[in-house]
Amino acid sequence: MIISERVVLRFPKELVDKPTISALVRKYDIEFNILQAQVLPQKEGLMVVVFTGEEKIVRQALNDLKSQNVGLQRLKQDIVKDDKICTHCGVCIGLCPTNAFYYDQPTKKVIFDYEKCITCMLCVKGCMVRAIKIKF
Ligand code: SF4
Ligand code: SF4
Repeated sequence: MIISERVVLRFPKELVDKPTISALVRKYDIEFNILQAQVLPQKEGLMVVVFTGEEKIVRQALNDLKSQNVGLQRLKQDIVKDDKICTHCGVCIGLCPTNAFYYDQPTKKVIFDYEKCITCMLCVKGCMVRAIKIKF
């Protein structure tokens, strides 16, 4: 069975500069999509990644990361829209397969309906001002 597993990875300082993920996908037959990446003030690296592949292979790959001392947390994530950043451009409306974003005519604002979100992540990269975030 093919699965997509969303995980938060925490890379210790000594691994931040290493191509850990590209080495992993060379070793295992899986695909990856980096949704967020940042280096924290204490120089720890943090990434939100979706790994897709055969369930068994994805599990093996995640265990491999753990054995390399990469912190791993399955993401039971929520999508949030930061209304202080959102410019109400409407791009996310066209991207969302479940119509979780809609244009509110009276206020001329783009509204996010959390209840409709299936956390497919399509909107996260599509928002140029990064108003859509993953809360974890
Ligand atoms: S794409 Fe981003 S800035 Fe544009 S309406 Fe959606 S959340 Fe707001
Ligand atoms: S994560 Fe997917 S379903 Fe949720 S708001 Fe974004 S595009 Fe829509």
